Amino acid sequence: MCVVACPQDTIALSDKINKKGYHYMVKIKDNCTGCENCALVCPDAVITVYRKTGKKKEKVATISNVQKDMSLEVN
Ligand code: SF4
Repeated sequence: MCVVACPQDTIALSDKINKKGYHYMVKIKDNCTGCENCALVCPDAVITVYRKTGKKKEKVATISNVQKDMSLEVN
């Protein structure tokens, strides 16, 4: 769902599978705009989007019920 929701084609499904047998999301381009679409459509709420301001890293979206974050940094 997150791959389809990304307007920048920043993310894709990995060729590899994780321990649960799923192809997981990977970042393939460095053009994330921080729109949060990927985080908002994730049914498991595992994606957190951060925006870098100067040297600081600020969280753009906070998704509750997160067990393992997938972080995307926006420059
Ligand atoms: S936050 Fe970045 S990776 Fe996520 S949908 Fe938006 S542009 Fe794509």
